[in-house]
Amino acid sequence: MLIRCAWCHTTTGNRPPYGGKHDAEIKNGICDDCLTHYFPHEAEKVQKLKEAEEAARAAYNKATEAAKTALNEVRKPANH
Ligand SMILES: [Zn+2]
Repeated sequence: MLIRCAWCHTTTGNRPPYGGKHDAEIKNGICDDCLTHYFPHEAEKVQKLKEAEEAARAAYNKATEAAKTALNEVRKPANH
């Protein structure tokens, strides 16, 4: 869905709006520039949220890799 910035009226494309799934139905959003300009405190929170999501994703990928490696070790035929 197309997100339109309610402040400067530019469209931000198909990028999901800020605020998580609750805001997903709202077509009026806010672009990066306006967020930083009008809500510096919120922008900081969004940035921290992004970083937290990024860290969570990295941790998940690492755990998935570790699990795969462990499974491969278990499945290896034993050397008798
Ligand atoms: Zn804007």
